[in-house]
This record gives sequence, C-alpha cells and structure tokens, in this order.
Amino acid sequence: MNEMQLKFLSRSENEIFARNAVAAFALPLNPSLSELSDVKTAVSEAVTNSIVHGYAGGEGWITLNCKTEDDVLHIEISDSGKGIADVEQAKQPFYTTLADEERSGMGFTIMQTFMTAFSVESRQGAGTTVKMSKRFGARAELDAQ
Ligand code: ATP
Ligand code: MG
Repeated sequence: MNEMQLKFLSRSENEIFARNAVAAFALPLNPSLSELSDVKTAVSEAVTNSIVHGYAGGEGWITLNCKTEDDVLHIEISDSGKGIADVEQAKQPFYTTLADEERSGMGFTIMQTFMTAFSVESRQGAGTTVKMSKRFGARAELDAQ
C-alpha cells in the first residue's frame, strides 16, 4: 500500500504535471505502456474538466489523491468549482456544455472506457470529485488462462 496527495492550481500546464505525477507514482506496480497511457489520458481528461468547466478558466485548487493497493491504482481528482447539475446526463457520450469551444463531450466516456472503475460525485456550487481505479496486469491474467 502506498498513498500520495497533490494540490495544484487550475492552470493548463498542471494537466501535464498531474498526468506525469500519477504515472511516476504508478511505476512500482509495473504497468504496461498501454495501461500507463490509459491512466495518463484519464487523468488529463479529469484535470482538464476541473480547469475548463469547474473553474471555467478562473483560478482554484485541484486536489489529486492516489493510492495503490496490490495491483490496483486508485485516483481521486477534486475541484471546488461550479459543480454539475445532472451527472448522469453529463456522463453521456457527446454531451457537452461547451460545444462552441470545440469540446466533443467525450471526456467522461474516455475515463469510463480506459479505467477499470469510474464514478463522479458532484454538487452544484460546491464542486466535483472523479474517482477512478485501474487494475494493472488484468490483460496478462486473462491471456494466461
Ligand atoms: P471533452 O472532454 O470531449 O473535451 P467535455 O469536457 O464537454 O468535452 P466531458 O469531459 O465528458 O465532455 O464532460 C461533460 C460535461 O460535464 C461538460 O461539458 C461539463 O458540462 C460537465 N463537467 C465535467 N466535469 C466537470 C467539472 N469538474 N465541473 C463542472 N462541470 C463538469
Ligand atoms: Mg472533458
């Protein structure tokens, strides 16, 4: 078991910081390149959402919690931004509130597809927390059967 917490400002350069920090934290679990790339993409999507939607380009704190447990990496990404009125609707593929800014509405769908588990908690005016986990080596186990 290992655990870490990071807190950073909602600046676009911190998307790269966050994805690389999580990748570095996950390395002792020996992820494959494709598993690592899945995790980095999911973290990028969640952090970008906090920056562009949660804080709408303004400044605020984003908190990243990571925990490893055997071959599973747990990630929580939270903002104290504007929150989501209808989470189920927001999770639908192609649903976006920023269509005019060329958002495709695929962020949550990507997180769901690339990670082993995924959930969103949000309260309007209070903020949003995305919880995701990835089990490493799942493919290899399947192949060995
Ligand atoms: P894309 O991710 O493809 O660039 P998108 O960000 O609009 O487009 P999703 O990431 O799937 O698509 O998010 C769907 C919608 O959920 C967003 O348009 C936004 O309305 C809402 N949303 C997502 N994350 C947050 C957040 N942290 N705070 C507030 N609203 C959010
Ligand atoms: Mg998005």
